[in-house]
Amino acid sequence: MTAQIIDGKAIAQQIKQQVAEQVKQRREEGKPCPGLATVLVGQDPASQVYVRSKHRACQKAGIQSFSHELAADVPQEKLIGLVKELNNNAAVHGILVQLPLPDNLDDEAVLNTVSIYKDVDGFHPLNIGRLAQKGREPLFTPCTPTGIIYLLKQVLPSLEGRQAVVIGRSNIVGMPVALLLVRENATVTICHSRTSDLPSVAKQADILVAAIGRPEMVRAKWVKPGAVVIDVGVNRVEDATRERGYRLVGDVAFEEVKEVASAITPVPGGVGPMTIAMLLRNTLHAAELAEK
Ligand code: NDP
Repeated sequence: MTAQIIDGKAIAQQIKQQVAEQVKQRREEGKPCPGLATVLVGQDPASQVYVRSKHRACQKAGIQSFSHELAADVPQEKLIGLVKELNNNAAVHGILVQLPLPDNLDDEAVLNTVSIYKDVDGFHPLNIGRLAQKGREPLFTPCTPTGIIYLLKQVLPSLEGRQAVVIGRSNIVGMPVALLLVRENATVTICHSRTSDLPSVAKQADILVAAIGRPEMVRAKWVKPGAVVIDVGVNRVEDATRERGYRLVGDVAFEEVKEVASAITPVPGGVGPMTIAMLLRNTLHAAELAEK
């Protein structure tokens, strides 16, 4: 069997288009343009690339974006002061503090300052807490995990009763995707670096999500035939044949796993593009919340 390739790039493009149409319609109805403020602290090149691409995507969707860049040694109070200002700025509907923050800053305190109504990244402790609790509704859910659920539903309209295994328990991906899968009534196992016999746990999965950060770690023999495999990892591996000297690979050995799985996301072009699409959707939602 050769797996269906889940084309995250095309799916994300459709979502971006839908957001752009809704933004246009809002403008025609005389409603304010949705606004997203990004806060970038320090000079981390990957974070700079991510933030730039978020601004570009906003521009294409007709969303206004505001960029704030601070030095890596910015005092905590100054960063918190900026977030408070953005909370009070009516043109800003969503606030995104690019993570990770430099070590000298307390990310929990900063995320706690973001208004829950503007928490388009879904990382405010209250939104995460609501996500973890039955019967409570977060106002926003984190972008990459929400994008993963969206991709899964393209191939499995109902996730109910499925055995899902998530490898990785980070605050950004592993844990929130596991919580979202529970909300979808999947039966979820969360694995991490201390899990014993990871391959045999992974092999139980109807849905296998790899969010590890280890190039091509998940092998074909770890995968149950017919499983749906979502590869979140983005890893650089040296490649002298490429002009830039490296290529990007996921956490899954794509070429061999696609012969066992029923559907799989590629890297690049799988989960990655969904993150920004979900951010645009959350920003539109924030603008709608501001009118309630
Ligand atoms: P983290 O480093 O924060 O977390 C990695 C997780 O993997 C941890 O829970 C860790 O376990 C677990 N892990 C590490 N090594 C092993 C191992 N040998 N066996 C089992 N588990 C292991 O990473 P992130 O969650 O932030 O990111 C994961 C990957 O996803 C990265 O490649 C990142 O670049 C990518 N990513 C992609 C995004 C996208 O938009 N496509 C967005 C965000 C991330 P433990 O907790 O025990 O340490």
